[in-house]
Amino acid sequence: MTLDQLPPLRDTLAEHGLLAKKSFGQHFLLDLNITRKIARLAQVGEGDHVIEVGPGPGGLTRALLETGARVTAVEADPRFAPLLEELSAASGGALTLRLEDALTTDEAAVAAGAPAHIVSNLPYNVGTPLLIKWLTGAFTPASMTLMFQKEVADRIAAAPGTEAYGRLSVLAQATSHAQVVMDVPARAFTPPPKVASAVARLTPREDRPEPVRLTALQQVTAAAFGQRRKMLRSSLKALGGEALCLAAGLSPEARAETIDVPGFLALADAYRIRS
Ligand code: SAM
Repeated sequence: MTLDQLPPLRDTLAEHGLLAKKSFGQHFLLDLNITRKIARLAQVGEGDHVIEVGPGPGGLTRALLETGARVTAVEADPRFAPLLEELSAASGGALTLRLEDALTTDEAAVAAGAPAHIVSNLPYNVGTPLLIKWLTGAFTPASMTLMFQKEVADRIAAAPGTEAYGRLSVLAQATSHAQVVMDVPARAFTPPPKVASAVARLTPREDRPEPVRLTALQQVTAAAFGQRRKMLRSSLKALGGEALCLAAGLSPEARAETIDVPGFLALADAYRIRS
């Protein structure tokens, strides 16, 4: 069997007797028009290596394989293994399956020194920790095209001064060019989640901060947004308070949500020098 001879995803799920499990955050995309659109937004194709987290029944996986990309799929739920092995055979071996928790995957080892893109309809319960791992970890993906709850996707791309702007916005935008590229209604999923979803696309910035600067950025953003209604001199008290703000060229009376990404990088640099 080849990719274009595969039965509809609903039939494949029924044939394998598979139902969505809440504990794994399973909300499936069974409409190949939607998964093909996500694959197009990911801008991957022949010669690219994609790491897909949570292939589940393989709808997005099929669309990624159709582009000619090579896919390494990381799935925590072993029930999907037989179905994904069939997909791997239909792809002529372009799909490799790893049955493991993506939180512990060593992406650098999977990529083996070559660029790799991450594409996923993420399980919402681990979406944010996975994103933080990819934004701040040792392995920098060539691009990330990721489905989140819409509220999380909006936080990733939010501008200063907005309600959605927070720690995730600063970490994402300091390291990446980030934008929301597609809204997806709850009814597109089986079973539908309670909230709407959206796809965010992130590509690495050329001036991505080096690891020590990123660690300091994580510390100052955690403190500043941990008490986002307070003035910086108070929320950053444990890290240097007013003196730290002045060293970074910021008003100690400002609040975290008004500080842009360069402002937070200045705070991170001032904190590194002082600590
Ligand atoms: N990609 C499929 C689709 O679009 O229909 C399924 C997406 S579903 C939202 C999330 C998938 O991630 C499920 O297959 C689930 O079993 C898997 N998953 C959940 N937690 C995981 C983890 N920690 N590591 C790897 N996969 C995980």
